[in-house]
Amino acid sequence: MTAVSEVSPDPIVYLNGELVPLSEARVPVLDRGFIFGDGIYEVAPLYAHASGRRTAFRLKQHLTRLARSVGKIGIANPFDDAGWHELIGRVAEANETDGGLRADQDAIAYIQVTRGVAKRGHAFPAGVKPTVFVMVTPLSLPGAAQRASGVACVSAEDRRWLNCDIKSVSLLGNVLMAQYAAENDAFETLQFRDGLLTEGSSSNVWIAKDGVLAAPPRSNKILEGIRYGLIEELTAECGIRFEARDITEAEVRAADEIIVSSATKEVLPVTRLDGAPVGAGQPGAVFAALYAAYQRAKAAEAAAAQEGVENESRERLTV
Ligand code: PMP
Repeated sequence: MTAVSEVSPDPIVYLNGELVPLSEARVPVLDRGFIFGDGIYEVAPLYAHASGRRTAFRLKQHLTRLARSVGKIGIANPFDDAGWHELIGRVAEANETDGGLRADQDAIAYIQVTRGVAKRGHAFPAGVKPTVFVMVTPLSLPGAAQRASGVACVSAEDRRWLNCDIKSVSLLGNVLMAQYAAENDAFETLQFRDGLLTEGSSSNVWIAKDGVLAAPPRSNKILEGIRYGLIEELTAECGIRFEARDITEAEVRAADEIIVSSATKEVLPVTRLDGAPVGAGQPGAVFAALYAAYQRAKAAEAAAAQEGVENESRERLTV
């Protein structure tokens, strides 16, 4: 028995035009995602609401990044935004019926597109159809206890390639960093390239000093998280100064606060780095302000989505 068949309940997933139980979903071994890691993915949160509807948070931005990722590796986007939206909605609905996803559970939409199946050869094959996979599974956000204590991180040199802006499924560099964290009882590995902060193995990293928030600038050295633009907006809303700039390792170690962000973590305070306390060793005021603002942004998007449903507008995306 493989681990997949032990998934219980067995989620319903979309694979190349069909809805099937995850335990039965199969791709040929010559899929270039398997052979070369030749594909991209996207991860977007779907929040459950009292109305019984689930709202995709910042889905438009996630789909824009998905379009950018496929564009950067020369795959024709299999769907437009409306098509992806509809597909995610279909998969979410199928899971509420058969896949064990409760209506009141937050969920995560995982989308993967690979170049498709072809005789093995490195350069792009002609005329292949991309493989499209969508999975919607429950999302467990960090709990209040984890937010209150903060998480411990370790650091390491960033040895990944220089196309980190592509949300590629070639994640070996990130996998090794996540494993390094796991082996050191840490939540994440914060990476440095040439003495400058890049990102975590699966999150963007922020530091606060004297009330000013800073993050490495958007570049090919980091994945621009959907929370990157969001947090920029939230700092403006909260009256926190934000600087996108190079951050040295010494600055990280002397920061008052370190924060990590991602779709599945939202924002989380890092209170220990390589065994030493970060600032006062407690989550700080900048984190508290951003976390509260993040929750307000979720509520605002849910309210706007509800209004969109009432006005039958597709402007706001609900699933
Ligand atoms: N960087 C890396 C390497 C990641 O894997 C992630 C999570 N997907 C992020 C940053 C944060 O991106 P997002 O806010 O879109 O989840």
